[in-house]
Amino acid sequence: MHSYDKEKGCPVCGYPKYEAFDETGLTTFEICPCCTNQSGYDYNENSDEGRYLSLRKVWVIDQQGQWLGSCTEPVGWSFAQQLEDAGLPF
Ligand SMILES: [Zn+2]
Repeated sequence: MHSYDKEKGCPVCGYPKYEAFDETGLTTFEICPCCTNQSGYDYNENSDEGRYLSLRKVWVIDQQGQWLGSCTEPVGWSFAQQLEDAGLPF
């Protein structure tokens, strides 16, 4: 069982309109429109907090917490605010 709460949205960046796991707890293979990590590829239902944290650090530090998806980021979007809203540490 993974420790990630799917109500939080993306387990890496906290983007809320994204389902990383389906109702049975299995990966959806969806790509996050914000950080572009892919459920089932970059992490899976057996990943622990350490895995999410290391992916989050790559996004926040190496990629400057940028909106990486092909769609336009929401107006007024802030990666730090998104992480805070999702209760994710970095
Ligand atoms: Zn994400």
